[in-house]
Amino acid sequence: MEYSRGKLIYEGKAKRLFEVDGHPEWILQEFKDSLTAFNALKKGSFENKGALNRDITSMVFKFLEKRGIPSHRVADIGTNEMVTEKLNMLKVEVVVRNVLAGSTAKKFGIEEGTPLEKPLVEFYYKDDALADPFISDDQALMMKVCRSQSELDELKSVALKVNEGLMTFFGDAGLRLIDFKIELGRNANGTVVLADEITPDSCRLWDKKTGEKMDKDRFRRDLGNVAESYQEVAERLKQSFLKSQSQTLAQSQEIKS
Ligand code: ADP
Ligand code: UDP
Repeated sequence: MEYSRGKLIYEGKAKRLFEVDGHPEWILQEFKDSLTAFNALKKGSFENKGALNRDITSMVFKFLEKRGIPSHRVADIGTNEMVTEKLNMLKVEVVVRNVLAGSTAKKFGIEEGTPLEKPLVEFYYKDDALADPFISDDQALMMKVCRSQSELDELKSVALKVNEGLMTFFGDAGLRLIDFKIELGRNANGTVVLADEITPDSCRLWDKKTGEKMDKDRFRRDLGNVAESYQEVAERLKQSFLKSQSQTLAQSQEIKS
C-alpha cells in the first residue's frame, strides 16, 4: 500500500506529525534525530536516531499486540516513519517504575537502583508549559483527564499489562527495565490504545550483566556513547524479536499438526 504524506500538523520535540492524503483517520509520524531532556532545556541529536527509535517502537508494538495490547501502529514506511491511527490523546503521561531511579529516587532519599516490591504507576499531566507535573488521581479527575476513577483504573491496568510485556521483551534482550513512560489515546470506539513511542527516550534500560545505562540517561547525564547504546538496544531487540517470531511460528505449526 502507498501512503502519501500530506500537510504538517504538528512538530514536537522528537517527532513531526503529518496528515496522510485520503486517510483522515491516520497520522504519519516521522521520528526525528533530535534528542531533548529536562523539558527541552537540553538539546542534542545524532544521525539515525529517528530510524532506530522507529524500529524499536515498531518491534515493541508488534510484540505487545500479540499479547493483546492494541497500539496505534498501522504500518512502517521509509526508514523513520510510522503510519498510525489518529487518536483522541489523553492529557496524561503514565509512568511505571520497577526500580527507583532519577528524580523519584532523589525525592525519597532512596538510592537509585533500589527495586520496588511491586510496580508503581504514576500519572503526569501532559502540558509542556507546566513541565508535565505529577498529579494524584483526584487531580487527574479535576483536570478531566478521564471521566471517572474506573477509567483511571483502566489506564493503570493497561500500563501494568504493558509493563509485563516489556519486562519479557527487554528481559530476553538482556535489558533490565527500570521504568518507562507511555501515552494513551482513545479510538473512535472509545477503546484505550497505546500510542506515541516506546524507545530508549521513554524507558530506562540497564544492561542486565553490567548494570550499564543504555537509554536517554546517557544523554541527560553526559555519560557518552549515546548513539552506540541506542544502536545496541535496537540490535538486541531485533534478535529477541526474531526469536519470539520463530517461537510463535513453531507453536502454530504444533497446533496444526
Ligand atoms: P512532544 O509533543 O512531547 O514534543 P513528540 O515530538 O513525540 O512529543 O510529538 C508527538 C506528539 O504526537 C505527542 O504530542 C503525542 O501525544 C502525539 N501523538 C502520539 N501518537 C498519537 C496518535 N496516535 N494520535 C494523535 N496524536 C498522537
Ligand atoms: N519519561 C519520559 N518523558 C517524560 C518524563 C519521563 O519519557 O516527559 C520517562 C523517563 O525516560 C523514564 C520514566 O519516564 O524512563 C520516568 O521518568 P522520571 O519521572 O523518573 O524522570 P526524571 O524526573 O528522573 O528525569
